[in-house]
Amino acid sequence: MKKLIAGNWKMNGSRAANEALLTALAAGLPGEPACEVALCVPAPYLAQVHALLASHPSLSGIALGGQDVSAHAPGAFTGETSAAMLKDCGCQFAIVGHSERRQHHGETDALVADKAKAALAAGMTPIVCVGETLAERQAGRTAEVVKRQLAAVIHANGHCISEIVVAYEPVWAIGTGQTASPEEAQTVHALLRAQLKAATARSDSVRIVYGGSMNAANAAALLAQPDIDGGLIGGASLKAADFVKIIALAPV
Ligand code: PEP
Repeated sequence: MKKLIAGNWKMNGSRAANEALLTALAAGLPGEPACEVALCVPAPYLAQVHALLASHPSLSGIALGGQDVSAHAPGAFTGETSAAMLKDCGCQFAIVGHSERRQHHGETDALVADKAKAALAAGMTPIVCVGETLAERQAGRTAEVVKRQLAAVIHANGHCISEIVVAYEPVWAIGTGQTASPEEAQTVHALLRAQLKAATARSDSVRIVYGGSMNAANAAALLAQPDIDGGLIGGASLKAADFVKIIALAPV
C-alpha cells in the first residue's frame, strides 16, 4: 500500500497564490512520486486547482480533496457543499472531522461519522481526523478519546470503513510547531490499527496517516514508523519546497 501525503491548505490561498504554489510544486517534483499525493483546498478554488493539476504533467497524478463535506443530500442547506458536488469538481478525498471543525463548529462524533458516510456514498475517500486535546493527553485520556472518535465512524459505516483513511492529529500539535514524537505517534497509530482490525477483515487497506506540524525536518522519522502510512500536512503544504521534500521522504 502506497503512503499518502495529503496537503491541507486550510483557509489559505488566492487565485494568484495557488497558481504560484502549483507552478513551484511542478518545478520541484522530478517525476511520478513514490507515494500518493493529494491536495485538500478551499471549496472556491477546487475548479482552479483541478485545472492546474491537469495542465502540469508532473502534477497530473496528484489527487484533489475537499476540506469538509456536508452530511446532507443536496437541498436547502445554505452554505454547505454536498459530497456529490465535491465529486463533480474532481475530488477523490474529503477531510472530515478536522479538529478545527470539531472545535470551532461544534462537530460531534456522530456528525463526523455521517459526513464520512456521505463521502463514501459519493465514491470519495473520507480522511477521518481523530485526536486528543492537550488537556485530554495530560489527563491520560488519549486512547479513550481517539477510540471513541473512530468507533463512531465504524459504527455508522460498517464494512465500508475499509475504504477510509484515518488521520491521527493530536490537537496540541496542529499548527503549533509541536509534533508528537515518532514513538508517541506510533503508539496511537497501533491502537487505531488494532481497533480497525477488530472491526473489519480488510483493515490492511486502511491508511492511518499522522498530522500535526509535520515538516521536512521531522517527516522521515515519523514516516519510518510501522503504523504511520503517510501524513496530513497543513502549514508545510503551503511551502512548495517543504512539501516536495516531504513527498520525497515518503517511501512506498
Ligand atoms: C492540519 O491542518 O491538518 C495540520 C496537520 O496542520 P499543521 O501541519 O499546520 O499542524
